[in-house]
Amino acid sequence: MTAVGQPSLHQAAVAQFQRAADLINLEARYREILSFPKNEIIVNFPVTLDDGSMKVFTGYRIQHNNILGPYKGGLRFHPDVDLDEVRALAAWMTFKTALANVPFGGAKGGLTIDPHNYSTDEMRRIVRRFTHALGSNIGPDHDIPAPDMGTSSETMDWVMDTYSNISSPGARQVVKGVVTGKSIPCGGSIGREEATGRGVLYSLRHWCGETNVRLDDLSVSIQGFGNVGSHFARLATEAGCTIKAVADHTGTIVNEDGLDIGKLQQWVAEHGGVFGFHGAEAADTEDLFRVETDVFVPAALENQLTLERVKNLPARVVIEAANGPTTPDADDQLYDKGVDVVPDILANAGGVIVSYFEWLQNKSARAWSFNDVDGRLRDLMWQAHDKVIEQVKEHHCTRRDAAYIVALGRIIDVYDRRGIFP
Ligand code: NAD
Repeated sequence: MTAVGQPSLHQAAVAQFQRAADLINLEARYREILSFPKNEIIVNFPVTLDDGSMKVFTGYRIQHNNILGPYKGGLRFHPDVDLDEVRALAAWMTFKTALANVPFGGAKGGLTIDPHNYSTDEMRRIVRRFTHALGSNIGPDHDIPAPDMGTSSETMDWVMDTYSNISSPGARQVVKGVVTGKSIPCGGSIGREEATGRGVLYSLRHWCGETNVRLDDLSVSIQGFGNVGSHFARLATEAGCTIKAVADHTGTIVNEDGLDIGKLQQWVAEHGGVFGFHGAEAADTEDLFRVETDVFVPAALENQLTLERVKNLPARVVIEAANGPTTPDADDQLYDKGVDVVPDILANAGGVIVSYFEWLQNKSARAWSFNDVDGRLRDLMWQAHDKVIEQVKEHHCTRRDAAYIVALGRIIDVYDRRGIFP
C-alpha cells in the first residue's frame, strides 16, 4: 500500500531500476520494456462460504518479465493487496531472480483478503477457485507461484492439487512443479520453509565480513514474526545475535537482555501474535524504531521505514527481509546517515533460490539432502553479494543501485543476444 505523499509502490520500483539504469547508461528501449509488466491477469470468481452465502473474490497475477525463464513469484493474501502493489512485487521478482542467477523471470499474485476471517474449509475453496480461474496462465514451465505474506505450504499444496486435477491424466505427476514452497510430502524441498530467513542471515554474515564486525556481537530488532522474521530470529539467535525487539500486527515487545526466541515462537503459535508475551515488556509501535540495536530487519510490509522513522533509527545496518520496506526518501536519508542498507532483491533472495532447487527436484523426481540445499543456497547468496560489492566499488553507489546494475546486466545481455521480436 502506498504511503501518503509517496510515489505509488510500482512507481517506486520503476524509479529504483531507473537510478541504476542511469549509472550504466542503459538504452531507452530496455528502460521502456522493464517499466511495464508483460501480462496483467485479473480474475473474479465466486466461492460459497460456510454459512451458504456466496462471495465473489478478485485475484491478480502480474507477469512482469520472462526473458531469463518462466515467470516466478509469490502469492500474497492480505487485505491491502491491490494491483499497484502486485505490479511492484512482480517487477522486484524479475530483478531478484536475475541477481540470484536463477533461470526465472518475475511475477507476483495476490488476493485482497484477510485469511484470518475465513475458516480452513473456506480458504481451501477460495484457493482452489483462484487456481482454477488462473488456469493455463500458470504452469511448471510458464509461471510458478510460491508462498508470500498470508500464504503457506498448505496453500501451495492446494494449488498444486487443483492444478494437477485440471491437467490431463498423463501429466498429473509431472505438474508438481507448478508451485514451489509445498510441504515436503507433497513434493516440497527440505529447507524451503526457512530459506528466506536463512538467506537473510547469510546477508548479515556477508555484511559482517565486509565491515569486520563479529556476528555474535550484534543486537537486532525485527519487524514481522511470520515465516521470514521468525526463522531469521531463530537462526540469528543460534548464531549468537541478541534479538532485543520484535513487532508484529498484534504489538511490539522489547527485552534489553535478549528475547527467548524459542519461547516466543511457541507463544505466537498458541496466541496468534507477540502481544502479551511474558518474557518481554510491551512497547508502542514507534518504539521499535528507537530501540538501541545494531541491526534492523524489516520482515513484514512495504513502506515501514519512513523518513520520520529512520531519522532516529540507531541501527548501523538495515537488512531488508521484506519487499519494499523502505520509502525512497528514507532510503536517501539512511545513505546520508551512513547506515548500510542491504536491499530486498538481495537480502530476501534465499526463498526464490531454494524454490529453484525445489523446481529442479520436481523435474528430476529426486530429493536433495539438507546439506545439498543449504550449501548451494549459501554459494548463490554469497556470489550475489560479492557481485554487488564489486559494483558498489566500481560505481561508488548504494548497494541497492549495485544490485540493480548486476541484475540489469544479466537481463540486457540476453535481450541483446536474442533481439526483440519480430
Ligand atoms: P507472513 O505472513 O508469514 O508474516 C508476516 C508478518 O508480518 C507477521 O508476523 C505479521 O504479524 C506481520 N505484520 C503484518 N502487518 C504488520 C504491521 N502493520 N506491523 C508489524 N508487523 C506486521 O509473511 P512472510 O512470508 O514472512 O513475508 C514477510 C515479508 O517477506 C513480505 O514482505 C514478503 O514479501 C517477504 N518475502 C517473503 C518470502 C517467503 O519466502 N515467505 C520470500 C521473500 C520475501
